[in-house]
Amino acid sequence: MNRLISLIYPPKCPYCSAALKYDMTECLVCRAKFPETPRIEPLVTGEICVAPFTYSSVIRKAIAQYKYRGKKFNTNSFAAALASSIRNVYSKDMSFEFITCVPMSRDRRKKRGYNQAELVARMTAELLEKPFAEVLYRDDGAAEQHLKSFEKRITDEDDSFHIIDASLVKGKQILLIDDVMTTGTTLSRCSRVLKDNGAERVFCGAIAIVKGYSFGNSNRYIDIAAKAKNGKEP
Ligand SMILES: [Zn+2]
Repeated sequence: MNRLISLIYPPKCPYCSAALKYDMTECLVCRAKFPETPRIEPLVTGEICVAPFTYSSVIRKAIAQYKYRGKKFNTNSFAAALASSIRNVYSKDMSFEFITCVPMSRDRRKKRGYNQAELVARMTAELLEKPFAEVLYRDDGAAEQHLKSFEKRITDEDDSFHIIDASLVKGKQILLIDDVMTTGTTLSRCSRVLKDNGAERVFCGAIAIVKGYSFGNSNRYIDIAAKAKNGKEP
């Protein structure tokens, strides 16, 4: 049936819109341009985040189409690339017991109809043959991170993420997935909630990481993060 549908409406490459054969997730030209090694970036909370892509204009467009125009087909390519990056980086250490995602508040989810991070996380879980579990939720009315300034995102007190049931995460190793990592603040906050509720270890993954992000090299970032940690205004 899927094959028939794809003959009538051939899926398009998420990155260049070329028509695809029914079993392809992106065209061969675009696939050949995929980075050979995944991005690996540290978070303030001590985890690392793995992503197959840097947030370039092509990736930005593919994610935007998927986020705002309902092109859920793009998820197939993102999840396949992410699953392969995760296998690559954590090859000897795929000890996480389940995969979860950064939650979206109920009001936003209702408005959009789906949580893009959840779609990618669920598909990545399938590809990695691990279960997916929803263990976090986000308060309604929580301000959208991407609307805040760089400094504000890092220093803002934000306790809008919560655990659904602590017994689900206690003693567990968990892979946490978001769509795009910008400052790492969202992943850090979710990771902190998981660990505060007894998670043993948190691994992080995203489709893409912004270009300039480097917690390890950016003095600006370290400075702001350190001041935030000490409870001082930057
Ligand atoms: Zn293409």
